[in-house]
Amino acid sequence: MSILLKSGLVAAASIIASIAISALIVPGDDFILVDGWALAMCILCPLVIAWPASAYTFWQKSKLTDALTALKGAHADLAAAHARLAEKARRDDMTGMLNREAFFDEMDCARRAFGRGTLLIVDADNFKQVNDNWGHLTGDAALLEICDAIKRAVRSDDIVGRIGGEEFAVYLTDADHRESMIAAERIRTEVASIAFSPRGGERLALSVSIGGAMNRAAAQLADLMREADRRLYEAKRRGRNRVIFSGYGVAA
Ligand code: GH3
Ligand code: MG
Ligand code: MG
Repeated sequence: MSILLKSGLVAAASIIASIAISALIVPGDDFILVDGWALAMCILCPLVIAWPASAYTFWQKSKLTDALTALKGAHADLAAAHARLAEKARRDDMTGMLNREAFFDEMDCARRAFGRGTLLIVDADNFKQVNDNWGHLTGDAALLEICDAIKRAVRSDDIVGRIGGEEFAVYLTDADHRESMIAAERIRTEVASIAFSPRGGERLALSVSIGGAMNRAAAQLADLMREADRRLYEAKRRGRNRVIFSGYGVAA
């Protein structure tokens, strides 16, 4: 309803109220309750005072309602921007994977939720050579291929992150020893089968070495990291492109 109409209704109600009050205070002749100047004043005063005053009040109220709506919209936009920024801060810019801090945060949650699980550290083999021979841009493209291969090889509830330059981490949520071995091997073979041909030339073989450590309730995160790291270096030492896991190794 328009402001003019609403304030008109208020003015009409005021006129009726004024006439009623005047009739009570100033008794008129017989059936004519209020007449003459008294009637004119009962009509004129509400018209001149109540109409503009209520129109102004309704106008202010509508402005406040508009401002409140705009404020709610701005608040929702701000909350969405904040959520986007918070999510961006958890992600590695280049690969979109969780960054180191976010990965270990999520891994900690998963460790608390499920007793079982395995940490894998996945390191690209001889990556310095890729950069040296093909340049950093090709190196970046190769890293993205490796990242996609890792994502293809894990389940949706596993946690994947980029914890260093050419180093990734996977936490296999609720996986037992056998499942973990199979998953780690799947990552290794998925990377090894990447058909990566920089600048349309010959295929450049990519591979990763993987060290694994099974979760233990008593172990600290740093203990698992050390354990997986030690096995990763063992995998490198034994010739790369292999998985070493709880003392048991699988090679290409
Ligand atoms: P290893 O098999 O022992 O792991 O050998 P490596 O050459 O992969 O290991 P090293 O630690 O000697 O070198 C890592 C290389 O990875 C050097 C570094 O420039 C490269 N690297 C790290 N992050 C990036 C990146 O974001 N883009 C590119 N193109 N290269 C990266
Ligand atoms: Mg490496
Ligand atoms: Mg490394």
